[in-house]
Amino acid sequence: MTAKAIKLDNIVKAYGTQKVLHGVGLDVAAGEFVSMLGPSGSGKTTMLKIIAGFEDPDSGSVSIGGRPMTGIVPEHRNIGVVFQNYSLFPHMDVASNIGFPLRMRGMSKAMQKDRISSVLSLVALDGLGARMPNELSGGQQQRVAIARAIVFEPDILLMDEPLGALDRRLRTDMQLEIKALHERLGITIVYVTHDQEEALSMSDRVVVFNKGRIEQVGHPREVYRHPSSLFVADFLGDSLALSAHINGTDIRLPGGLMTAGTQSELPEGAVKLLWRPDQMEVAAPIDAVTLQERRLSVPAKVLTAAYAGTVLRLRVELSTGDIGIVAASDRANIAAGESISLVLDLDEATILPLAASDDIPGARR
Ligand code: ADP
Repeated sequence: MTAKAIKLDNIVKAYGTQKVLHGVGLDVAAGEFVSMLGPSGSGKTTMLKIIAGFEDPDSGSVSIGGRPMTGIVPEHRNIGVVFQNYSLFPHMDVASNIGFPLRMRGMSKAMQKDRISSVLSLVALDGLGARMPNELSGGQQQRVAIARAIVFEPDILLMDEPLGALDRRLRTDMQLEIKALHERLGITIVYVTHDQEEALSMSDRVVVFNKGRIEQVGHPREVYRHPSSLFVADFLGDSLALSAHINGTDIRLPGGLMTAGTQSELPEGAVKLLWRPDQMEVAAPIDAVTLQERRLSVPAKVLTAAYAGTVLRLRVELSTGDIGIVAASDRANIAAGESISLVLDLDEATILPLAASDDIPGARR
Protein backbone atom coordinates (compact mmCIF):
# COMPACT_ATOMS: atom_id res chain seq x y z
CA MET A 1 0.00 0.00 0.00
CA THR A 2 1.52 3.31 -1.07
CA ALA A 3 1.66 6.12 1.44
CA LYS A 4 -0.94 8.80 0.88
CA ALA A 5 0.71 12.17 0.31
CA ILE A 6 -2.56 14.08 0.16
CA LYS A 7 -6.02 13.10 1.29
CA LEU A 8 -8.94 15.37 0.43
CA ASP A 9 -12.15 14.46 2.17
CA ASN A 10 -15.48 15.92 1.07
CA ILE A 11 -14.19 19.47 0.51
CA VAL A 12 -16.90 22.11 0.23
CA LYS A 13 -16.16 25.76 -0.55
CA ALA A 14 -18.32 28.77 -1.43
CA TYR A 15 -17.43 32.37 -2.19
CA GLY A 16 -20.41 34.37 -0.92
CA THR A 17 -23.47 32.60 -2.23
CA GLN A 18 -21.58 30.86 -5.07
CA LYS A 19 -20.63 27.29 -4.26
CA VAL A 20 -17.37 26.46 -6.07
CA LEU A 21 -16.54 23.02 -4.65
CA HIS A 22 -19.34 20.59 -3.91
CA GLY A 23 -17.71 17.86 -1.83
CA VAL A 24 -14.44 16.93 -3.50
CA GLY A 25 -12.68 13.76 -2.34
CA LEU A 26 -9.33 12.51 -3.65
CA ASP A 27 -6.31 10.52 -2.48
CA VAL A 28 -2.94 11.29 -4.02
CA ALA A 29 -0.15 8.75 -3.44
CA ALA A 30 3.38 9.80 -2.48
CA GLY A 31 5.42 10.42 -5.62
CA GLU A 32 2.39 10.58 -7.88
CA PHE A 33 1.89 13.17 -10.65
CA VAL A 34 -1.78 14.10 -10.67
CA SER A 35 -3.34 16.68 -12.99
CA MET A 36 -6.53 18.55 -12.23
CA LEU A 37 -8.10 19.20 -15.61
CA GLY A 38 -11.27 21.11 -16.36
CA PRO A 39 -12.74 24.20 -17.96
CA SER A 40 -12.11 27.65 -16.56
CA GLY A 41 -14.15 28.26 -13.42
CA SER A 42 -14.57 24.56 -12.55
CA GLY A 43 -12.82 24.97 -9.17
CA LYS A 44 -9.29 23.67 -9.86
CA THR A 45 -7.38 26.68 -8.52
CA THR A 46 -9.61 26.89 -5.46
CA MET A 47 -8.85 23.22 -4.74
CA LEU A 48 -5.11 23.87 -5.09
CA LYS A 49 -5.27 26.90 -2.77
CA ILE A 50 -7.06 24.79 -0.17
CA ILE A 51 -4.32 22.13 -0.35
CA ALA A 52 -1.65 24.85 -0.01
CA GLY A 53 -3.51 26.46 2.91
CA PHE A 54 -4.09 29.84 1.20
CA GLU A 55 -7.84 29.21 1.54
CA ASP A 56 -9.79 27.22 4.14
CA PRO A 57 -12.59 24.84 3.14
CA ASP A 58 -16.06 25.56 4.55
CA SER A 59 -16.28 21.89 5.44
CA GLY A 60 -14.31 18.73 4.76
CA SER A 61 -10.65 18.12 5.53
CA VAL A 62 -7.17 18.04 4.01
CA SER A 63 -4.46 15.73 5.35
CA ILE A 64 -0.89 15.70 4.20
CA GLY A 65 1.34 12.73 4.95
CA GLY A 66 -1.40 11.47 7.27
CA ARG A 67 -1.53 14.72 9.30
CA PRO A 68 -4.72 16.81 9.40
CA MET A 69 -3.96 20.31 8.09
CA THR A 70 -6.77 22.23 9.79
CA GLY A 71 -5.29 25.37 11.33
CA ILE A 72 -1.82 24.78 9.82
CA VAL A 73 -0.48 27.81 7.94
CA PRO A 74 0.98 27.43 4.40
CA GLU A 75 4.60 27.92 5.60
CA HIS A 76 4.28 24.88 7.85
CA ARG A 77 2.85 22.53 5.22
CA ASN A 78 6.19 21.92 3.44
CA ILE A 79 4.64 22.50 0.02
CA GLY A 80 6.21 24.25 -2.97
CA VAL A 81 3.92 26.31 -5.19
CA VAL A 82 4.36 27.56 -8.77
CA PHE A 83 1.83 29.85 -10.44
CA GLN A 84 1.37 30.92 -14.05
CA ASN A 85 2.55 34.49 -13.42
CA TYR A 86 6.01 33.64 -12.17
CA SER A 87 5.72 36.07 -9.23
CA LEU A 88 9.49 36.48 -8.93
CA PHE A 89 10.75 39.41 -6.83
CA PRO A 90 11.79 41.89 -9.55
CA HIS A 91 14.40 43.67 -7.41
CA MET A 92 16.24 40.47 -6.43
CA ASP A 93 18.65 38.55 -8.62
CA VAL A 94 18.00 34.90 -9.52
CA ALA A 95 20.03 33.48 -6.63
CA SER A 96 18.27 35.69 -4.06
CA ASN A 97 14.88 34.79 -5.50
CA ILE A 98 15.66 31.09 -5.22
CA GLY A 99 17.21 31.51 -1.77
CA PHE A 100 14.17 33.33 -0.37
CA PRO A 101 12.44 30.26 1.13
CA LEU A 102 15.80 29.19 2.65
CA ARG A 103 16.30 32.59 4.31
CA MET A 104 12.72 32.36 5.65
CA ARG A 105 13.71 29.05 7.21
CA GLY A 106 16.86 30.55 8.74
CA MET A 107 19.31 28.34 6.84
CA SER A 108 23.02 29.20 7.09
CA LYS A 109 24.59 31.22 4.24
CA ALA A 110 26.92 28.38 3.28
CA MET A 111 24.13 25.82 3.06
CA GLN A 112 21.99 28.27 1.11
CA LYS A 113 24.77 28.70 -1.44
CA ASP A 114 25.10 24.92 -1.94
CA ARG A 115 21.38 24.40 -2.31
CA ILE A 116 20.96 27.30 -4.73
CA SER A 117 23.78 26.14 -6.94
CA SER A 118 22.53 22.54 -7.09
CA VAL A 119 18.95 23.57 -7.84
CA LEU A 120 20.16 26.01 -10.52
CA SER A 121 21.83 23.16 -12.31
CA LEU A 122 18.73 20.97 -11.83
CA VAL A 123 16.66 23.48 -13.81
CA ALA A 124 19.48 24.09 -16.34
CA LEU A 125 20.26 27.66 -15.27
CA ASP A 126 23.89 27.14 -14.20
CA GLY A 127 25.80 30.39 -14.01
CA LEU A 128 22.73 32.63 -14.19
CA GLY A 129 22.43 33.30 -10.43
CA ALA A 130 23.47 36.95 -10.75
CA ARG A 131 20.94 37.84 -13.46
CA MET A 132 17.89 39.95 -12.66
CA PRO A 133 14.47 38.49 -13.57
CA ASN A 134 13.95 41.03 -16.37
CA GLU A 135 17.16 39.79 -18.01
CA LEU A 136 15.64 36.31 -18.48
CA SER A 137 13.29 34.85 -21.08
CA GLY A 138 9.80 33.71 -20.05
CA GLY A 139 10.90 30.08 -19.96
CA GLN A 140 13.96 30.92 -17.84
CA GLN A 141 11.84 32.95 -15.41
CA GLN A 142 9.49 30.02 -15.00
CA ARG A 143 12.50 27.77 -14.31
CA VAL A 144 13.55 30.17 -11.54
CA ALA A 145 10.03 29.97 -10.09
CA ILE A 146 10.25 26.16 -10.15
CA ALA A 147 13.72 26.25 -8.58
CA ARG A 148 12.42 28.51 -5.80
CA ALA A 149 9.51 26.10 -5.19
CA ILE A 150 11.73 23.02 -4.82
CA VAL A 151 14.88 24.47 -3.20
CA PHE A 152 13.69 23.73 0.34
CA GLU A 153 12.98 20.10 -0.64
CA PRO A 154 9.22 20.09 -0.12
CA ASP A 155 7.27 16.81 -0.09
CA ILE A 156 4.68 18.23 -2.48
CA LEU A 157 4.80 20.58 -5.45
CA LEU A 158 1.60 22.35 -6.52
CA MET A 159 1.61 23.91 -9.98
CA ASP A 160 -1.19 26.13 -11.29
CA GLU A 161 -1.09 26.55 -15.08
CA PRO A 162 2.69 27.02 -14.81
CA LEU A 163 3.22 27.03 -18.58
CA GLY A 164 0.16 29.06 -19.55
CA ALA A 165 2.15 32.16 -20.47
CA LEU A 166 4.67 30.36 -22.69
CA ASP A 167 4.43 29.80 -26.43
CA ARG A 168 3.56 26.34 -27.69
CA ARG A 169 7.06 25.08 -28.52
CA LEU A 170 8.53 26.23 -25.21
CA ARG A 171 5.54 24.81 -23.39
CA THR A 172 6.09 21.31 -24.77
CA ASP A 173 9.81 21.50 -23.93
CA MET A 174 9.01 22.60 -20.38
CA GLN A 175 6.43 19.81 -20.03
CA LEU A 176 9.21 17.30 -20.67
CA GLU A 177 11.51 19.08 -18.23
CA ILE A 178 8.91 19.10 -15.46
CA LYS A 179 8.25 15.42 -16.04
CA ALA A 180 11.97 14.65 -15.90
CA LEU A 181 12.26 16.69 -12.70
CA HIS A 182 9.37 14.72 -11.21
CA GLU A 183 11.12 11.46 -12.00
CA ARG A 184 14.47 12.63 -10.67
CA LEU A 185 13.13 14.06 -7.39
CA GLY A 186 10.30 11.57 -6.77
CA ILE A 187 8.26 14.50 -5.48
CA THR A 188 4.43 14.44 -5.40
CA ILE A 189 3.01 16.88 -7.96
CA VAL A 190 -0.52 18.25 -8.27
CA TYR A 191 -0.75 20.14 -11.53
CA VAL A 192 -3.65 22.36 -12.61
CA THR A 193 -4.32 22.83 -16.30
CA HIS A 194 -7.20 23.39 -18.71
CA ASP A 195 -5.13 21.86 -21.54
CA GLN A 196 -6.10 18.23 -22.09
CA GLU A 197 -2.97 17.35 -24.07
CA GLU A 198 -0.81 18.65 -21.25
CA ALA A 199 -2.75 16.65 -18.64
CA LEU A 200 -2.75 13.46 -20.75
CA SER A 201 0.93 13.60 -21.63
CA MET A 202 2.34 14.45 -18.20
CA SER A 203 0.29 12.73 -15.53
CA ASP A 204 0.06 9.40 -13.77
CA ARG A 205 -3.60 10.19 -13.18
CA VAL A 206 -5.97 12.83 -14.49
CA VAL A 207 -8.75 14.28 -12.33
CA VAL A 208 -11.47 15.83 -14.50
CA PHE A 209 -13.33 18.72 -12.85
CA ASN A 210 -16.74 19.96 -13.94
CA LYS A 211 -18.62 22.70 -12.09
CA GLY A 212 -16.94 22.11 -8.73
CA ARG A 213 -17.19 18.33 -8.82
CA ILE A 214 -14.83 15.55 -9.85
CA GLU A 215 -16.36 13.97 -12.92
CA GLN A 216 -13.80 11.18 -13.42
CA VAL A 217 -10.38 10.12 -12.13
CA GLY A 218 -8.12 7.76 -14.02
CA HIS A 219 -4.96 6.97 -15.94
CA PRO A 220 -4.70 9.22 -19.03
CA ARG A 221 -5.53 6.35 -21.39
CA GLU A 222 -8.52 5.35 -19.29
CA VAL A 223 -10.11 8.81 -19.21
CA TYR A 224 -9.42 9.30 -22.93
CA ARG A 225 -10.55 5.87 -24.14
CA HIS A 226 -13.18 5.12 -21.52
CA PRO A 227 -14.75 8.43 -20.52
CA SER A 228 -17.55 8.01 -18.01
CA SER A 229 -19.66 10.83 -19.42
CA LEU A 230 -20.12 12.92 -22.53
CA PHE A 231 -18.62 15.87 -20.69
CA VAL A 232 -15.34 13.98 -20.12
CA ALA A 233 -15.38 12.54 -23.64
CA ASP A 234 -15.81 15.99 -25.13
CA PHE A 235 -13.35 17.77 -22.87
CA LEU A 236 -10.56 15.24 -23.46
CA GLY A 237 -10.46 15.50 -27.21
CA ASP A 238 -12.14 15.10 -30.57
CA SER A 239 -14.82 12.50 -31.06
CA LEU A 240 -17.94 11.62 -32.95
CA ALA A 241 -21.05 10.52 -31.09
CA LEU A 242 -24.02 8.79 -32.68
CA SER A 243 -27.47 8.79 -31.10
CA ALA A 244 -28.86 5.34 -30.32
CA HIS A 245 -31.36 3.69 -28.02
CA ILE A 246 -30.80 0.67 -25.79
CA ASN A 247 -33.41 -1.76 -24.62
CA GLY A 248 -31.89 -4.67 -22.69
CA THR A 249 -29.12 -5.91 -24.98
CA ASP A 250 -30.77 -4.48 -28.10
CA ILE A 251 -29.19 -1.40 -29.57
CA ARG A 252 -31.45 0.52 -31.95
CA LEU A 253 -29.34 2.38 -34.47
CA PRO A 254 -30.19 4.53 -37.47
CA GLY A 255 -29.41 1.58 -39.76
CA GLY A 256 -31.26 -1.14 -37.84
CA LEU A 257 -31.17 -3.20 -34.70
CA MET A 258 -28.23 -5.14 -33.28
CA THR A 259 -27.30 -6.87 -30.06
CA ALA A 260 -24.65 -5.43 -27.80
CA GLY A 261 -21.16 -6.86 -28.11
CA THR A 262 -18.44 -7.01 -25.52
CA GLN A 263 -19.52 -3.87 -23.68
CA SER A 264 -20.49 -4.67 -20.13
CA GLU A 265 -23.06 -2.85 -18.01
CA LEU A 266 -25.12 -1.19 -20.69
CA PRO A 267 -27.15 1.88 -19.81
CA GLU A 268 -30.85 1.88 -20.73
CA GLY A 269 -32.69 4.30 -22.97
CA ALA A 270 -31.17 7.12 -24.99
CA VAL A 271 -27.38 6.78 -25.39
CA LYS A 272 -24.53 8.05 -27.49
CA LEU A 273 -22.08 5.69 -29.17
CA LEU A 274 -18.71 7.40 -29.19
CA TRP A 275 -15.59 6.97 -31.33
CA ARG A 276 -12.26 8.81 -31.21
CA PRO A 277 -10.88 10.09 -34.54
CA ASP A 278 -8.44 7.18 -34.96
CA GLN A 279 -11.27 4.65 -34.56
CA MET A 280 -13.18 5.74 -37.67
CA GLU A 281 -12.58 5.14 -41.33
CA VAL A 282 -13.37 7.76 -43.95
CA ALA A 283 -14.80 6.17 -47.12
CA ALA A 284 -16.49 7.05 -50.41
CA PRO A 285 -19.98 8.60 -50.34
CA ILE A 286 -23.00 6.27 -50.01
CA ASP A 287 -26.77 6.84 -50.19
CA ALA A 288 -28.05 5.39 -46.94
CA VAL A 289 -26.95 4.01 -43.59
CA THR A 290 -25.99 0.35 -43.78
CA LEU A 291 -25.21 -2.12 -41.02
CA GLN A 292 -23.06 -5.06 -41.98
CA GLU A 293 -21.18 -7.44 -39.69
CA ARG A 294 -21.33 -5.01 -36.78
CA ARG A 295 -19.92 -2.23 -38.89
CA LEU A 296 -22.05 0.78 -39.58
CA SER A 297 -21.55 2.90 -42.71
CA VAL A 298 -23.08 6.35 -42.45
CA PRO A 299 -23.33 9.06 -45.12
CA ALA A 300 -21.77 12.33 -43.99
CA LYS A 301 -21.11 15.81 -45.21
CA VAL A 302 -17.85 17.64 -44.49
CA LEU A 303 -18.61 20.97 -42.79
CA THR A 304 -15.00 22.11 -42.38
CA ALA A 305 -11.63 20.61 -43.25
CA ALA A 306 -8.52 21.88 -41.48
CA TYR A 307 -4.99 20.76 -42.14
CA ALA A 308 -3.48 19.78 -38.77
CA GLY A 309 0.03 18.53 -39.58
CA THR A 310 -0.15 14.78 -40.12
CA VAL A 311 -3.93 14.60 -40.43
CA LEU A 312 -6.82 16.46 -41.92
CA ARG A 313 -9.28 17.38 -39.15
CA LEU A 314 -12.80 17.11 -40.52
CA ARG A 315 -15.91 18.42 -38.83
CA VAL A 316 -18.71 16.33 -40.27
CA GLU A 317 -22.47 16.14 -40.11
CA LEU A 318 -23.89 12.64 -40.43
CA SER A 319 -27.12 11.91 -42.29
CA THR A 320 -28.53 11.19 -38.81
CA GLY A 321 -27.96 14.82 -37.81
CA ASP A 322 -25.10 14.03 -35.42
CA ILE A 323 -22.06 16.27 -35.66
CA GLY A 324 -18.47 15.34 -34.74
CA ILE A 325 -14.81 15.41 -35.59
CA VAL A 326 -12.96 12.73 -37.58
CA ALA A 327 -9.40 12.51 -38.84
CA ALA A 328 -8.49 11.72 -42.44
CA SER A 329 -5.06 11.25 -43.95
CA ASP A 330 -3.53 14.58 -44.93
CA ARG A 331 -3.13 13.10 -48.41
CA ALA A 332 -6.88 12.49 -48.75
CA ASN A 333 -7.50 15.96 -50.17
CA ILE A 334 -11.03 16.32 -48.82
CA ALA A 335 -12.64 19.76 -48.82
CA ALA A 336 -15.55 21.40 -47.03
CA GLY A 337 -18.89 20.70 -48.70
CA GLU A 338 -17.89 17.23 -49.95
CA SER A 339 -19.91 14.09 -49.30
CA ILE A 340 -18.15 11.13 -47.69
CA SER A 341 -19.14 8.18 -45.54
CA LEU A 342 -17.84 6.95 -42.22
CA VAL A 343 -17.28 3.34 -41.30
CA LEU A 344 -17.82 2.76 -37.59
CA ASP A 345 -16.97 -0.48 -35.79
CA LEU A 346 -19.72 -0.99 -33.22
CA ASP A 347 -17.52 -3.14 -30.99
CA GLU A 348 -15.09 -0.24 -30.61
CA ALA A 349 -17.75 2.24 -29.53
CA THR A 350 -17.87 3.63 -26.02
CA ILE A 351 -21.51 3.66 -24.92
CA LEU A 352 -22.51 6.64 -22.82
CA PRO A 353 -25.83 7.40 -21.19
CA LEU A 354 -27.40 10.60 -22.44
CA ALA A 355 -28.24 12.82 -19.47
CA ALA A 356 -30.53 15.76 -20.12
CA SER A 357 -27.83 18.13 -18.87
CA ASP A 358 -25.08 16.73 -21.10
CA ASP A 359 -23.42 18.78 -23.74
CA ILE A 360 -23.44 17.03 -27.06
CA PRO A 361 -19.88 16.53 -28.34
CA GLY A 362 -19.23 18.62 -31.37
CA ALA A 363 -22.31 20.75 -30.94
CA ARG A 364 -20.41 23.79 -29.77
CA ARG A 365 -17.34 23.45 -31.93
P1 ADP B 1 -10.54 27.21 -12.23
O1 ADP B 1 -9.21 27.16 -11.57
O2 ADP B 1 -11.08 25.85 -12.57
O3 ADP B 1 -10.59 28.14 -13.39
P2 ADP B 1 -11.36 28.65 -9.86
O4 ADP B 1 -11.15 27.74 -8.70
O5 ADP B 1 -10.35 29.71 -10.11
O6 ADP B 1 -11.62 27.78 -11.17
O7 ADP B 1 -12.77 29.38 -9.70
C1 ADP B 1 -13.97 28.70 -9.44
C2 ADP B 1 -15.08 29.73 -9.27
O8 ADP B 1 -14.86 30.47 -8.08
C3 ADP B 1 -15.14 30.76 -10.39
O9 ADP B 1 -16.49 31.02 -10.68
C4 ADP B 1 -14.46 31.98 -9.78
O10 ADP B 1 -14.98 33.15 -10.34
C5 ADP B 1 -14.82 31.86 -8.31
N1 ADP B 1 -13.79 32.44 -7.43
C6 ADP B 1 -12.50 32.05 -7.34
N2 ADP B 1 -11.83 32.76 -6.40
C7 ADP B 1 -12.70 33.64 -5.89
C8 ADP B 1 -12.63 34.66 -4.87
N3 ADP B 1 -11.50 34.91 -4.21
N4 ADP B 1 -13.77 35.37 -4.61
C9 ADP B 1 -14.92 35.11 -5.28
N5 ADP B 1 -15.05 34.17 -6.24
C10 ADP B 1 -13.98 33.43 -6.54
